[in-house]
Amino acid sequence: MSVTCVVGTQWGDEGKGKIVDSISDDADLVVRFQGGDNAGHSVITDAGNFGLHLVPSGILRDQTVNLLGPGTAVNPESFLAEMASLHERLPDLEFAGRLYIAERAHVVMPYHVATDGAEEDSRGDLVQGTTRRGIGPAYADKFARSGIQFADLLDDDYLDEYLPHILEQKNRVLRASFDHAGFELADMLDLCRGWREQLAPFITDTFGLVGRALEAGENILLEGQLGIMRDIDWGHYPYVTSSNPTVAGACVSTGIPPGRIDRAIGVAKAFTSSVGEGPFPTELDGDIAHRLRSGGGGEYGVSTGRPRRVGWMDTVAIRHAARINGLTNLALTKMDLLDDFASIPVCTGYRLNGTVLDSVPTTHRLDRVEPVYEELPGWETETAGLNRWDDLPANARGYVERVEEIVGVPVSYVGTGQHREALIVRD
Ligand code: GDP
Repeated sequence: MSVTCVVGTQWGDEGKGKIVDSISDDADLVVRFQGGDNAGHSVITDAGNFGLHLVPSGILRDQTVNLLGPGTAVNPESFLAEMASLHERLPDLEFAGRLYIAERAHVVMPYHVATDGAEEDSRGDLVQGTTRRGIGPAYADKFARSGIQFADLLDDDYLDEYLPHILEQKNRVLRASFDHAGFELADMLDLCRGWREQLAPFITDTFGLVGRALEAGENILLEGQLGIMRDIDWGHYPYVTSSNPTVAGACVSTGIPPGRIDRAIGVAKAFTSSVGEGPFPTELDGDIAHRLRSGGGGEYGVSTGRPRRVGWMDTVAIRHAARINGLTNLALTKMDLLDDFASIPVCTGYRLNGTVLDSVPTTHRLDRVEPVYEELPGWETETAGLNRWDDLPANARGYVERVEEIVGVPVSYVGTGQHREALIVRD
């Protein structure tokens, strides 16, 4: 049995969905531990290309049970729409007994979505690049102790007493600060009751489920969303998400004790991409950016469709992720997108005021750093679809080995394409 946590080591979109799907062939339980429908994972199987936003990436393996953990913020409308879309494409896909939302997970309400958009509009040049899905405001309410948990949806008396109070506060702010019409209590109560009708069978005590899986020695996969640079504490605040996409975050958000985590796999793209605002030291533009952006697994957000900013690999960020997460393994994805380059720069440090930093500074300083590059020879040979280490060209193996040397963590998986089988598994 093992408990494996999969986290992002860059700005997000590293290909975690594909890695979780690829290695979930012997998983019993797959848990999404933070975030909401503000990011997505792409998973490609013989059945097609699936953009998953809330539903854990293990759903496409028949033997798995999939949980949205207590640390997630879930928009019930998006969750229902995602289930409907999966059902339309895969009518035999079983949800009953295989997909659950934690009773402690937080509900993203329409006033969270309205607040997110209104706050972002009011920021002018200081826009943070949120996805406007209400995730930040839902987490803000969680910590302000004004949130609604999924367990509350099941309790009419509680909603009757609690929701009027919350809604009054929300409407006051929306009307006074953002000239918004606000929301009617009757509409919100109807919505909550409608969600209860549809979601009650999926809402459960995931703590018990996880505990029983641990006791039974099952294989558990914990799936993070976004990457270390978007972590609320360790990323480039305020251009971050409102939760911790780290191993520690996974423990807090699932109730699994830190000592029970066996493997922490950090997923890194062989280059870097970022959606949204904030510093991005190795950012490229022009022809090279175009080449990196337009290869297989195009660099456009799964949830937002936004073109991703792209840059060379930044091992300072990956080392940051390795330290904070205690990474035991790396998965390097999208190696195939570097096939055409004669020479590949890798950022090994940041120069700031004449000093070379080897760790990630706070945001304003990060905004002023210049990347220090080491040039690695390219391989100029097609690697797409390879799944044996020995078949990789020598320079591609050299690239992987140099990355593991700089970061100090073994690269155990190398991605060579979008399909779940396009993966090299090293011993
Ligand atoms: P996630 O949020 O970390 O799961 O990443 P996304 O799914 O948002 O974005 C990753 C993109 O890269 C998706 O389109 C994947 O299909 C694609 N992808 C993942 N691994 C590989 C790989 O090794 N090669 C190629 N070409 N594409 C990949």
